[in-house]
Amino acid sequence: MFTYTEEQKLLIHSVSNFAKEYLAPKAEELDETEGYNQAAFKKMAELGLLGITADEKYGGANLGALETTLVMEKLAEACASTTLSYLAHSILCVNNIQANGSEAQKQKYLPKLISGDWLGGMAMTEPGAGSDALGLQSKAVKVGNKYILNGAKTYITNGPSGNIFVVYAKTGPARKDVSTFIVESCFPGFKVSKKLRKMGMRASPTAELAFIDCEVPVENLIGKENDSISHMMKNLNLERITISGISLGITSACLSYTTRFVQERTQFGKPLSHFQMVQERIAEMATQLDAGRALCYAAALRFDSGDLDPTLGAKCKLFTAPMGTRAGLDAIQLLGGAGYMKEYPVERYMRDAKLLEIGAGTNEIMRIIIAKSLLHLKEG
Ligand SMILES: Cc1cc2nc3c(=O)[nH]c(=O)nc-3n(C[C@H](O)[C@H](O)[C@H](O)COP(=O)(O)OP(=O)(O)OC[C@H]3O[C@@H](n4cnc5c(N)ncnc54)[C@H](O)[C@@H]3O)c2cc1C
Repeated sequence: MFTYTEEQKLLIHSVSNFAKEYLAPKAEELDETEGYNQAAFKKMAELGLLGITADEKYGGANLGALETTLVMEKLAEACASTTLSYLAHSILCVNNIQANGSEAQKQKYLPKLISGDWLGGMAMTEPGAGSDALGLQSKAVKVGNKYILNGAKTYITNGPSGNIFVVYAKTGPARKDVSTFIVESCFPGFKVSKKLRKMGMRASPTAELAFIDCEVPVENLIGKENDSISHMMKNLNLERITISGISLGITSACLSYTTRFVQERTQFGKPLSHFQMVQERIAEMATQLDAGRALCYAAALRFDSGDLDPTLGAKCKLFTAPMGTRAGLDAIQLLGGAGYMKEYPVERYMRDAKLLEIGAGTNEIMRIIIAKSLLHLKEG
């Protein structure tokens, strides 16, 4: 249905093989133990995936949103939660520094992140500021050659073991006076206050972070003071397009698993696949998946061609995230009792899929972004 370039076919093939060999065999165990697949990250570095959008001079692959979405999809078919950690590292942290950092910041941080020596993340959400991202309260005050950062962040992917975080904080009195900082976990005053337990995406570690008079060198300010909004919004758009690849991957995994299952399982003397109500669910899932792919690949291509329309990512996420949850629930239903059992992967697919309706902006916020754009409404 989709025409890929030779390079894209090669990328899909190698990522698919990697995911089958390194992610799929560990997915169930890591979901159970809430572990983190560090070995897979090292291997992803060898494949050139950790700096997928970064310049080649820092070790990156210099690829676009489309290739990143394809990679997310293939990885998530095997383990959605490792893919979420990969997204936080490669898009929320690496791409952010690539797109907005100074030459010195790129030289200092990108090679370590792209080689897999360091793990990265991004810290925007706070206990009192989730959907209302600009309501954040963390504050950075310039004192000499340092910023003194105080505040708390929550639900931060890769929080428990990350070495470096792109952190948003207020630097002035106005709502839009937000600045972005590169904060290393070894800076004085940085603390992982709590590792969080989750219903899904359990192989993607999540934490609360605290900054207590945290000392951030002035050279770690990304861009200018009070000027985060534009690059924050551009990053979020790319995040939303590419994270939709995870929903595509989960839906694809649901479809493959249930297609096999309903052909093998027999009731009333026939394989389940002979019953029309079963066929209906399979046909719906396959059609939704192709529609989701068409939307996301087209949005990614537009993003890559320089289109900054914030509804690109919002539409991808709004369509694919509920699609993934529905596919997970349908897969459980099609497996019957087996679907509800931990021995089968589909209940994990559903738990993982649900996060995509919340993280990177909830479904409701996606609707608001799309409606505001169409109706020419301002923030508020
Ligand atoms: C597993 C996980 C990983 C995450 N990783 C990161 C990360 O790496 N970095 C980071 O910064 N953040 C991260 N997040 C945070 C995530 O982006 C937020 O959870 C999300 O934006 C929602 O914010 P909230 O949880 O505070 O919910 P709230 O904003 O409190 O929303 C609660 C409910 O109210 C609804 N709501 C809010 N405002 C409106 C409105 N105006 N109209 C209608 N409905 C509304 C929401 O849609 C939602 O249904 C992560 C979250 C999770 C669960």
